Amino acid sequence: MSLKKIIEIVINGVIPRQLTESKVANMAKCDECGKRFNVSDARSDYNDEFDGELNYDEEYGGQLCADCAISDTSSNINLGRAIDMMNGDEDYDDDFVREHL
Ligand SMILES: [Zn+2]
Repeated sequence: MSLKKIIEIVINGVIPRQLTESKVANMAKCDECGKRFNVSDARSDYNDEFDGELNYDEEYGGQLCADCAISDTSSNINLGRAIDMMNGDEDYDDDFVREHL
């Protein structure tokens, strides 16, 4: 078992017990990393990251924590750009395409 996994288990086990009931009501478990997170915090982190251009609720609706949602969206954006580069719709960057396609 990796250290990261052990830490996640410890965090998942300890933090919810310390939270008040009203906070627990707003907690969700991330589908990606299994971390428990606060949905309204994730929504504001995500919407801030993308300057409100993308909507956390539409994209993820409480399924992913802010970190996973942001990295998922970023990799989709990068993949889209790599495809645009392949199609000649954007200036071609070999390193970028290799990394993201
Ligand atoms: Zn996550």
